[in-house]
Amino acid sequence: MDILLLGPPGAGKGTQGALLSQRTGLPRFATGDLLRDAVARETPLGLDAKAIMESGGLVSDDIILGIVRDQLLLPSARDGVILDGVVRTVPQAEGVEALLSQLGRQLDRVIFLDVSDEEVLERIDRRRDLEDRADDAPEAVVRRLQAYRSQTAPVLAWYDDRIGVSRIPAQGSVEAVAERIAEVLEASS
Ligand code: ADP
Repeated sequence: MDILLLGPPGAGKGTQGALLSQRTGLPRFATGDLLRDAVARETPLGLDAKAIMESGGLVSDDIILGIVRDQLLLPSARDGVILDGVVRTVPQAEGVEALLSQLGRQLDRVIFLDVSDEEVLERIDRRRDLEDRADDAPEAVVRRLQAYRSQTAPVLAWYDDRIGVSRIPAQGSVEAVAERIAEVLEASS
């Protein structure tokens, strides 16, 4: 089964993606984490991505689709994956569809974590005190939300027209949100 998690920055994709991975046994892969790791190791990819990430912009579709291709070819991805924050533009949605189709697969579920802008800003404020992420600086957060609205929000309509989107209210406790996601997946299996 291949599952895509979508949602604004700070919606809780990483937290819920990790829980979903435990529950389903499918590997989770998050472009944000892979890029941060490349930046920390100062690989050529990391050197390219660093400034863009720190400013809160989006890394290019070509780079992202290259990373997705590598991940989908891993033996651990054979039975499906949880794609966490991986698709942020319509060309990325098209590219992921093409890559999966080369493997004879398609996304089974698209799950959108729905939270208000207010809650997003509060969550990122809290995270800033716990983790030291350069892209959680206030100016970068504003740009990430702008990138989300202009480039990622249209991806929802793209999936609505094709396979449908399960919209999950992402307010409340981590456990409550995880339970809502589990219900949606059970209802569809
Ligand atoms: P968030 O979802 O809270 O913005 P992430 O950790 O998922 O945080 O991503 C951090 C940064 O990595 C993004 O702001 C962006 O610069 C880059 N990034 C991650 N995934 C993508 C993607 N699919 N397309 C473009 N840029 C991405």
